[in-house]
Amino acid sequence: TKITIAIDGFSSTGKSTVAKQLAKALGYVYVDSGAMYRAVTLYAMQNGYIDSAYFDKESLIAQLDQISISFKFNENLGFAEVYLNGKNIEKQIRTLEVSQFVSQVATVSEVREQLVKQQQNFGKNKGVVMDGRDIGTVVFPYAELKLFMTASAEKRAQRRYDELIKRGDDVSYDEVLKNVQSRDHIDSTREDSPLTIAEGSIKLDNSNMTLEEQFEFVLKHSDE
Ligand code: C5P
Repeated sequence: TKITIAIDGFSSTGKSTVAKQLAKALGYVYVDSGAMYRAVTLYAMQNGYIDSAYFDKESLIAQLDQISISFKFNENLGFAEVYLNGKNIEKQIRTLEVSQFVSQVATVSEVREQLVKQQQNFGKNKGVVMDGRDIGTVVFPYAELKLFMTASAEKRAQRRYDELIKRGDDVSYDEVLKNVQSRDHIDSTREDSPLTIAEGSIKLDNSNMTLEEQFEFVLKHSDE
């Protein structure tokens, strides 16, 4: 029988890599909840509601019903890409710029309420792997398998830096490290649904683990 799998943890711990592998191996649907917060952030940036100097929360909240987020499976990539109002934004939401604003946007309760509702709807049928910050605590507190992933900040920044360089983005390791640390801080100290370890989570510190080792670890626990 199919179960619900919740994967939470700090930024750039490799949650989505493990989640995608797991979904593929089990024939489950993978949902990237962070992509939804990034989509709302991109919308806020495009409409001038947020930049490095200010954040006009009220306008964003007033426009929330104009934001439609969807996922469409891409056969070539092997996972679902995210769409904002019908437009594929998968690449645009992975920039450091979006990463620099997303945690602020994710503190807004009205934003969280709307996204959590949609996420819970995706989880109505079993056989879902979702990763994020509040999946085991808020979205699917009943999940049969909860993972909490960690790794040292330096390891995480290095991985994210390598990814961004591979894409051809012009970033420095230092600014990526700063972003990872600042998001961890905002995500764990915000008032609404802060990042915490859900009850019953299995902890996975992958600082010194290969992908294969992580995958084996998780598969072993998902049979139990
Ligand atoms: O997972 P990802 O790093 O793409 O998430 C981007 C940001 O979105 C996080 O740093 C966090 O601020 C927010 N987020 C959240 N709750 C989730 C998923 C992401 O607050 N379930």
